Amino acid sequence: MLDADFFRRWMTATAASVDREAERLTALDSPIGDADHGSNLQRGFRAVAATLEKEAPETPGAVLMLAGRQLISTVGGASGPLYGTLLRRTGKALGDAAEVDQQELAQALRTGVDAVMQLGGAAPGDKTMIDTLVPAVDALGESFAAARTAAEEGALSTTPLQARKGRASYLGERSIGHQDPGATSSALLIAALAETAG
Ligand code: ADP
Ligand code: MG
Ligand code: MG
Repeated sequence: MLDADFFRRWMTATAASVDREAERLTALDSPIGDADHGSNLQRGFRAVAATLEKEAPETPGAVLMLAGRQLISTVGGASGPLYGTLLRRTGKALGDAAEVDQQELAQALRTGVDAVMQLGGAAPGDKTMIDTLVPAVDALGESFAAARTAAEEGALSTTPLQARKGRASYLGERSIGHQDPGATSSALLIAALAETAG
């Protein structure tokens, strides 16, 4: 079973991973964006880690809702409200249970991903974080390791795609041949989940 401490460790592991990969995320956002994705998420997840340390919410749902609120309030740019919605809606779907199992998390994450698709209007194949999150959530029904693999493959799958949402879509065909930064950071989020699950 996964308790509040597990979810706090997931968010802390994500913050550490985003710190390590911030330059790479920003570099990916340079040819098809405005070169700020790494610094956007670094600011956001540092705030998440600091807040969770201070406030220590007692349920998995409360941890993710607080993390989502922090992202929305600290990250300028498209990715803040999108990741914020993902975590807030996933947390809300977990309700006030003290512990949840892997299947319950998979189901709640699906609700969160659906909310991101509704907010941003992106579908799979549009070259966004959705290309990572949808296959990852599908695979989470099987195992954490399968979700991580699916996420990493999903991020790589964005390279040949033409962007249809977000800033990269302004480039039209010139967005082809570049890996999407948000799909890449989503793979870090899922990899941190698998790492935390051990
Ligand atoms: P900004 O584009 O405002 O500078 P970021 O650079 O932080 O924001 O984030 C860009 C990432 O956000 C993209 O790589 C993409 O994965 C994701 N993104 C942008 N728009 C959307 C959308 N409408 N739906 C889903 N994801 C999106
Ligand atoms: Mg950007
Ligand atoms: Mg920006």
